[in-house]
Amino acid sequence: MSTRSLNARAAAAALGLLVACAAQAQSAVQPPAASAAAAAGTPTAAPAPAQSAPRPASGSDLAACQALVQRLSAFKPVDCARLAFLPSGHQSVRGRPILVREFGAPVASPRPSAAPGADRPPGAVLRRPRVLLVGGIHGDELTSTATVLRWAEWLARDAAAGQPVPFHWRVVPAMNPDGLLARPATRVNANGVDLNRNFPTPGWEPKARKWWEGTARKDPRRFPGRTAASEPETRWLLAEMERFAPDVIISVHAPFGLLDYDGPKPQNLSPPRQLGRLYLDQLGVYPGSLGNYGGVHRGVAVLTIELPHALELPNDLELARMWTDLRRWIAEYMQRSAAAQLAAGGGSGVDGGSASPRP
Ligand SMILES: [Zn+2]
Repeated sequence: MSTRSLNARAAAAALGLLVACAAQAQSAVQPPAASAAAAAGTPTAAPAPAQSAPRPASGSDLAACQALVQRLSAFKPVDCARLAFLPSGHQSVRGRPILVREFGAPVASPRPSAAPGADRPPGAVLRRPRVLLVGGIHGDELTSTATVLRWAEWLARDAAAGQPVPFHWRVVPAMNPDGLLARPATRVNANGVDLNRNFPTPGWEPKARKWWEGTARKDPRRFPGRTAASEPETRWLLAEMERFAPDVIISVHAPFGLLDYDGPKPQNLSPPRQLGRLYLDQLGVYPGSLGNYGGVHRGVAVLTIELPHALELPNDLELARMWTDLRRWIAEYMQRSAAAQLAAGGGSGVDGGSASPRP
């Protein structure tokens, strides 16, 4: 069903869900370890979709996660058994699985009246705000993958404790496992391509090559590839954007210590000015970058988080501040996006099970 086909009642119900999501995100101002009691009293205006139950990881999945953890041994380890990442079914150039884990995935409504006011047939899927969290596009930015793993661990802990997970998360800690696991780690993938210059932005040919030859002075660390989407890792993320149809993409990098944003600004909502100690400082767009492709070309909110160091991870308190600020901004973005679409006479895009890709 198209998001445009939603009637006003269903859209209003969806907005109610978003308000609930915002309340949940607002409630999470404490570091995750201290948030259980506060979250227990959080009201929910709409039925909370069941959390995606962690499935036991197979031996190979576990080994793939443990390889990441071993590579990140300078940082506090995460529990791969608890995280239970699953292979995406796609592999890197060297055949390594690209691991994925979901949190807060919706489930089929048990009966039509499960969501008051929504004209939803039995078994319909409640549409939740979808967030794609991607780390490790550049393999030598070790803190990127470590941060995504830490946040995933907190999501897993919340889900296991029965706490509400406000959004439907799809978490990808290492999009470029070959670069991360190389010795030394490399920014580029195993074909020597900078994946964040390989997305098929309009005019990629010849813009990407001209940018590389001119601005980048043929820096091999920034080689965009011979053709757009030439790399299996890029093609996988492109397909993921179609399958998952994220409302927001969070891409974690290092070491510039800032926030960048590409995408819609519903009701004049500005990009997040601050996450923890990171402040907005927009870098501009590059041919073939994820922000350019997703935010400018596809109209999906793409927030790029540039951590301050590639090898020195912020402490847990700082990561918790960023995590709280991030979820608060996503909730506000989704609220304003839904309200703007309602005002324009369309559906909110957050209910009815639509997964239609954006224009
Ligand atoms: Zn990067």
